[in-house]
Amino acid sequence: DLTHGIILYLEGITVSFGGFKAVNDLNLYIGDGELRCIIGPNGAGKTTIMDIITGKTRPDSGSAWFGQQINLLKMNEPEIARAGIGRKFQKPTVFESHTVHDNLELAMVGNKQVWPTLTARLNTAQQDRIEAVLTTIGLKEKIRARAGSLSHGQKQWLEIGMLLMQRPKLLLVDEPVAGMTQQETERTAELLVSLAGTHSVVVVEHDMDFVRSIARKVTVLHQGSVLAEGRMDEVQNNPAVIEVYLGE
Ligand code: ADP
Repeated sequence: DLTHGIILYLEGITVSFGGFKAVNDLNLYIGDGELRCIIGPNGAGKTTIMDIITGKTRPDSGSAWFGQQINLLKMNEPEIARAGIGRKFQKPTVFESHTVHDNLELAMVGNKQVWPTLTARLNTAQQDRIEAVLTTIGLKEKIRARAGSLSHGQKQWLEIGMLLMQRPKLLLVDEPVAGMTQQETERTAELLVSLAGTHSVVVVEHDMDFVRSIARKVTVLHQGSVLAEGRMDEVQNNPAVIEVYLGE
């Protein structure tokens, strides 16, 4: 069974803006539990692909499946999120005036109207869930800190934690280490590597050292199509890839 173990299938995806093909007959397959990096020069189509997976943009043609049952092209953005695809944008969007705990709680409860009055009513399982995510993201000591008081890196981890509260199967992460210190970058690499296996993780990233430090497999996009795919050491010696990057 060739389809065994694949969580995300994009086949023959084409997206045009006006007459311009931002994504051109793209095939992308992400394995269950895989950590994949997507790289490529500006304008290669990386953001557009994330937008298709999350239902923000509809392709002109092609198919997009999450597992074997879920046709992403028939669902809207909230339905896709509920099906288990979480997206982390580059800029952190935590609630700065609220605590780390309450940010995670909001992400779990997911209803701004009733929050923050819910705090007192969290059950043990919900409290345990918050604790577990705090441990994963390394912010246990910060549970009562206001999100606004965190460092840039800590805010990014908190936002990953907020995604985790919704128990996604697939995490899409856009440039997670932009603006981070070296130490924060290393910690983020550890975090993403630790999430793989129990989650599938797709990272769009420009920082090549970071990609090298985390990725098992890299997909290089160029002009809306896959230019090369493989291990970082294979991909970076590919003449076509070198040419695209030298031409930047
Ligand atoms: P990347 O994320 O790799 O930098 P994008 O997916 O953002 O690339 O963009 C791919 C191409 O499509 C770019 O040339 C961009 O200018 C174009 N593009 C993206 N979104 C739109 C849009 N809404 N309207 C017109 N052109 C767009």
